[in-house]
Amino acid sequence: MERTFIMIKPDGVQRGLIGEIVKRFELKGFQLVACKLHRVTKTQAEFHYEEHKGKPFFQELVSFITAGPVFAMVWEGDEIITLSRNMMGKTKVLESQPGTIRGDYALHTGTNIIHGSDSPQSAEREIGNFFNKEELVDYSKIIQRWV
Ligand code: GDP
Ligand code: MG
Repeated sequence: MERTFIMIKPDGVQRGLIGEIVKRFELKGFQLVACKLHRVTKTQAEFHYEEHKGKPFFQELVSFITAGPVFAMVWEGDEIITLSRNMMGKTKVLESQPGTIRGDYALHTGTNIIHGSDSPQSAEREIGNFFNKEELVDYSKIIQRWV
């Protein structure tokens, strides 16, 4: 069973998309492990987006992600990293297909609503940046065998 870090960015929170996005993840069959409404610190933001340090949009990205609360989540499910990235849609707004979260709700690449980890290594690193071990809730659901 794989875990991933999903974050509704400040634009998604401001636009009232928390419920819609959580609904899509629940209906897909994924299991919620942790969630919180959270104001990202500059340190957390720079760590989270470290791979983009030096790129022209880095400063804008850090200011944007710290500009308002995010809705940070950990979800679990088989192959969730690939499946959730498919549900999110492509990074670039002109490439994200209708039916995906970004394809349905984003107009600009800089305000593309949602973040999701891109590998098991980034998931572990990103979860650790936002959640303590005690905040990750282990439980089983009988329904999982039917999903
Ligand atoms: P992701 O994993 O799909 O979120 O994409 P990346 O890891 O490549 O980029 C991280 C975030 O930086 C994206 O979600 C965008 O919000 C932003 N970003 C990426 N490329 C660009 C760009 O060319 N211009 C701007 N303004 N933002 C970008
Ligand atoms: Mg990324």
